[in-house]
Amino acid sequence: MLSVVVPIYNEEANLPELLRRTSAALEATGEAWEIVLVDDGSRDGSARIIRQAHDADPRVKLIALSRNFGHQPAITAGVHHARGDAVILLDGDLQDPPELIPRLVEKWRDEGFQVVLAQRRSRAEHGAARRIGFRLFYPLMRHVSDLPAGTTAAEAGIFGLMDRVVVDCFNRLPERNRFIPGLRQWLGFRQGAVEYDRRDRAAGEPKQTLGRLIKYAMDGMVSFSVRPLRVATWTGFGCAAIGFLTAIVFIVRRLFFHDPAVTGFTTLL
Ligand code: UDP
Ligand code: MG
Repeated sequence: MLSVVVPIYNEEANLPELLRRTSAALEATGEAWEIVLVDDGSRDGSARIIRQAHDADPRVKLIALSRNFGHQPAITAGVHHARGDAVILLDGDLQDPPELIPRLVEKWRDEGFQVVLAQRRSRAEHGAARRIGFRLFYPLMRHVSDLPAGTTAAEAGIFGLMDRVVVDCFNRLPERNRFIPGLRQWLGFRQGAVEYDRRDRAAGEPKQTLGRLIKYAMDGMVSFSVRPLRVATWTGFGCAAIGFLTAIVFIVRRLFFHDPAVTGFTTLL
């Protein structure tokens, strides 16, 4: 069986098409399936639409979170409840085309890959800040991270497939501030990728605020690299050293050359 996990926050405008396209793509694989929709505290009609879809087809399932927790926690909750032999993660705004699912499944079922990443060949994003942010983040992340090399998530978000073996390991990770693409890469196993062109979201505004995306980028960087910590340490040492040297210079000038810069300045230093 295949599970598709989708985080949903105020996506009523996208849900009907999302469900239609995702179930069609799943039917095309010839496998049994479930779609696990995680309602992350939506304030619009999302939960109602999901309930109706469940009544019409019980393979569509709803996990209703008690409040808005955010993208990564919502996915985590969904993966914990997914029952499939493979679990596919997908965003609910149709930026990740469900039509790619059969190719992810083939790579897993026929070629034996345990993780299949959907890698972006190109991307369209909402707004200049986001576009520039993504452009900067991925090369930087690749540069600083201590993640294992190999078929790596150069340009991969959450979109992709994990085998049950990988999912069971994923579910045992204790991290709270998660950067799921990094964790998935860190887990190892046989990782492969298929490429696609990423569109802008189908309807509505992005639900992840820019602030949240920045926090997410920081989580990614800090979780998978000691470099930010090292930079902080050496900056601290550097500032302290400059301070000591300056103090010594002024003390020497005051004591031996009787040359106070400004009266009282040496004492202050
Ligand atoms: N989402 C969520 N909780 C949030 C924010 C977003 O579950 O607090 C969902 C959202 O409904 C969408 C997916 O996560 O299905 C990706 O969100 P979005 O498109 O806003 O983020 P971006 O594409 O900018 O990363
Ligand atoms: Mg999006």
